[in-house]
Amino acid sequence: MTTVGITTTVPIEVLMAAGYQTVDLNNVFIGSTERERLVNLAERAGFPQNCCTWIKGIYGVCMEYGIGPVLCVTSGDCSNTIMLMEVLKLKGLDVLPFAYPDQPDVDLMQRALETLAGRLGTTLTRADELRGELGRARRLALEVDELTWRDGVVSGLENHLSLVTASDFGGDYREYERRLEELLAQARTREPYPDDYLRLAYIGVPPVFPSDLYSYIERNSARVVFNEVQRQFAMPNPGSSLAEQYCNYTYPYSIFGRVDDIVAQLRQRRVDGVIHYVQAFCHRGIGDIIFRDSINLPVLTLEGNNDFMLNHHLRTRVEAFIDMLKRRAAATSGASSSGGLGVSPH
Ligand code: SF4
Repeated sequence: MTTVGITTTVPIEVLMAAGYQTVDLNNVFIGSTERERLVNLAERAGFPQNCCTWIKGIYGVCMEYGIGPVLCVTSGDCSNTIMLMEVLKLKGLDVLPFAYPDQPDVDLMQRALETLAGRLGTTLTRADELRGELGRARRLALEVDELTWRDGVVSGLENHLSLVTASDFGGDYREYERRLEELLAQARTREPYPDDYLRLAYIGVPPVFPSDLYSYIERNSARVVFNEVQRQFAMPNPGSSLAEQYCNYTYPYSIFGRVDDIVAQLRQRRVDGVIHYVQAFCHRGIGDIIFRDSINLPVLTLEGNNDFMLNHHLRTRVEAFIDMLKRRAAATSGASSSGGLGVSPH
């Protein structure tokens, strides 16, 4: 089976219908033991210092691990991908463009999917059948999510890894299902996290230091019960067709669609505070203005660049944020037990 690299979550059903095994280049990069070397490779090729680490990592993966062709999303993800695509072409790789429509409109999406299917020599009928086949894997991912926020028996990191992998199912959706079934069975035998652990949300693009971040949060008696973009990768609102599914997927469109999803989930999951992760030099960081305006909870904006560990400065900021939330929670419960005159937690 020929592999196709992807630069973000795309309609994987169409790629599978065309006989490709899909590999999310971000997951390969961040899971690699030689991340620094892959980034260096891109810098040596001329990628500027002030270019996002994910883009440089993807370039490094393409060059080093011989993955091709590469499906590059030219609209609905990252403007840097357009130039990355041109550089990959220059280096002799086969690249395919895919553009999400500028708004989540079912007719526009249908046309985008048809164009992609036509280019790959397959049909949307076959892609729709595969959507059915992938349904189970996605349901299992969403079950892991439920056991995270509702039952408190899955860690923030396990949640992150299970959901983020739903972009390509690790290249083998049956194996992915098997691993999630194992995790679910094991999680159901665990004691839940203590009730007094703070409940945090993580919004924004996935971090470059996942293991460190989630474990550090837990060492400070808090845990992540909502991973926003990662959850979207598992298509929580599949709709009734492929076109609807990728219209309900919030990430490629206006940030206000994401805000609606985030606000509803914060309420349902009884979140105490939000970590907004931004990647250095990423245009999406500007969205922090909108999140802070729309989210009625304390927000910590955390920027990562090319350190694949939480550095001292970031650790201090996470710890200070959690301390502030704890004091706030204590003040709120103190006020409500003495007559309810305190500030509203939200
Ligand atoms: S983090 Fe931002 S700049 Fe980097 S690849 Fe993602 S969208 Fe693009």
